[in-house]
Amino acid sequence: MSENLKEIVEEISKNDNVLIVGHILPDGDDVSSLVSMTLGLEKLGKNVTAVIDDEIPEYLLQFPWVKSKIKKFEDVEKIIYKNFDIMVILDCSSPDRIGKFEKYLNAFHVLLIDHHVTNTHFGNLNWVDPTMASTAQMVYRILTSLNVEYDKELATMNLLGIATDTGFFKYQNADVLVFKDVTELIEKGANISDISNTILDNIPLEQIYLYKDVISNLKLALNGQIAYSLLSLDMLSKYNVLPKDSPSFVENLRSIRGVEIAIVFQEYEKGSYHVSLRSKKWADVSKIALNYGGGGHPRAAGFSIETNDIKQTMEEIVYYISKTIGNPSRNLAYQ
Ligand code: 5GP
Ligand code: MN
Ligand code: MN
Repeated sequence: MSENLKEIVEEISKNDNVLIVGHILPDGDDVSSLVSMTLGLEKLGKNVTAVIDDEIPEYLLQFPWVKSKIKKFEDVEKIIYKNFDIMVILDCSSPDRIGKFEKYLNAFHVLLIDHHVTNTHFGNLNWVDPTMASTAQMVYRILTSLNVEYDKELATMNLLGIATDTGFFKYQNADVLVFKDVTELIEKGANISDISNTILDNIPLEQIYLYKDVISNLKLALNGQIAYSLLSLDMLSKYNVLPKDSPSFVENLRSIRGVEIAIVFQEYEKGSYHVSLRSKKWADVSKIALNYGGGGHPRAAGFSIETNDIKQTMEEIVYYISKTIGNPSRNLAYQ
């Protein structure tokens, strides 16, 4: 057992009142990690509250426990000082990722469990392992070390994060450990087809129409190695899709032959954009995201920007990326 895992397990064993915090713009790994940690620690009789300071996308709300177990900032704010001994932060690489909980960091002993290579180690006790494909696998190690008994529902919720962070077991991070953990979770009753049916074979029709419009905005750069597009609030409102419920379609752009880097600029509020980056084989997009104040992994990263001229900003960012990936001295290549 790694030294940090051991210390994390000891701290969790010692403390009965646990606040678990996830990240803004929540994804499958984060929601899976929060719900699994909550269900697991509750089985040990602990008083656990999980929170995310953001809306949870509809595709994740379909899973059991997500609605009931993950609270909002407002639900927790009033009781935060008297109800908890420790804060456990899951799947967050930097303090801004926890939203309004950032201002409570100094009030708690903070355990940080994450797998992002860009992690800034902002907890008091940090277990950061970028060789892990998902935070859900780190939660799995914590819960099994604490001798938590897995049932089918816990196993399925724990598998969810491994599935989503590996693109359903097909990204470069889908390594031997992923398949070993998946095997163990399936042995404990996890149902992979429940997860894939709920996420992959269940796309609302309006999102398909939205995809059509994202493809209409598609542009290519650097001899077809960069594909980028815009997803604006106007496009979302045309189909009545909420920003939090919309996929970025960035993985669809990456799937184009010859594309190495895919970028989608997604408007969240008027003039505020989240930029999703993906790469296929060699470009380290976490470095691009870091340059713009964000973070992530070599193959999947993101950052936020404000602009009132998005078309111009897109061209500037794509120009920067073309220049940097064409210049080996910037060390963007990975592997
Ligand atoms: P996505 O494009 O799906 O929002 O994010 C891809 C990856 O980059 C995720 O692992 C996510 O944690 C990370 N990421 C996305 N946006 C940000 C950001 O603004 N800051 C940081 N630190 N990481 C981000
Ligand atoms: Mn995440
Ligand atoms: Mn993750």
